[in-house]
Amino acid sequence: MSTVDDLSKEILADLVHDFRAKNLGSDALSNGYEGPSIAAIGMKYCAEGQYSKVDFDLALKQLEESKFVNSGPMVPYENTPGSQLVFMGMRSKREFVYLKEKGYKAAQKFTPKPKSAAPSSGADADRKFARLAIDEARKSLPENDGRPHPWVGAVVVKDGKVLGTAHRGEVPGNHAEFVALEKNLPNIAVTGATVYTTLEPCTTRTPPKIPCVDRLIERKVARVVIGILDPDDRIRGKGQRKLSNAGIETALFPHDLAMEVEELNRAVTRRPDHPAVDCGAAILFLHVRRADHNRPLRGLDDYSAHAEGRRATPTAKRTRKSGGARSTLREI
Ligand SMILES: [Zn+2]
Repeated sequence: MSTVDDLSKEILADLVHDFRAKNLGSDALSNGYEGPSIAAIGMKYCAEGQYSKVDFDLALKQLEESKFVNSGPMVPYENTPGSQLVFMGMRSKREFVYLKEKGYKAAQKFTPKPKSAAPSSGADADRKFARLAIDEARKSLPENDGRPHPWVGAVVVKDGKVLGTAHRGEVPGNHAEFVALEKNLPNIAVTGATVYTTLEPCTTRTPPKIPCVDRLIERKVARVVIGILDPDDRIRGKGQRKLSNAGIETALFPHDLAMEVEELNRAVTRRPDHPAVDCGAAILFLHVRRADHNRPLRGLDDYSAHAEGRRATPTAKRTRKSGGARSTLREI
């Protein structure tokens, strides 16, 4: 399986998600609709560095040639004034891309639906909504700050129905769980609901922001199903434990889906010297090895100073403890 094939599938899955979110009828697959902007999708896939612009162009071309997708809007050919040869008809301005019926059907093969529309068991339901949370996480937006950010999606479900969804970056600077509960469902009773989140909810945020765990407790959700625990060993599991202690049942995604979340977030989880991120949009924790700096660093300014080889700002206080390669943890 080539990189381009992989990317084609990812784009197709995104388009299916977008199509479903638009609540359009099947006729839209034949007649066309305004899908996501080509520039935005390209930026999303190329920002992380996993795919190049060439990969993206080839993947999109492959989808168009297979008649899985089409682009728009359509505009009339612009003929050169006075030319003897006049073209009639329409051409695509290639501003957005949308799914065609053939593409919609092809995508089903990649992400098989649960066997029954109404899941018969809790495990089936968990799988279905965990899948949805991952689809949502894939919509997370890049922040163009040169740092990897986690891909986080959250889905709120009650009585088998999806009440709301959210992804990191949907409301800039806010975590997916916060957006799902407070921005998208501020006046809906979520008591007793299950929240599916691809990353363990955070327990610490810079005031006045409230940690997602506290919001979940306050809104009295009954159950939280988590994709992966926080990648930082020192805070890993704290969110889950706090929910448990508050009487909220917790569970983890099925293993294969958890691995998919892990894979999606590898830029964040596999870079030990990079800021480790808890839960969502903002970088919460920055940890830098003392061995590299001989003292703890205090924030992003220091981090970028280090990255650029400059001296860190003198405002950081020297808090010397015992020597050696200790790590420090600082909330931003
Ligand atoms: Zn959070």
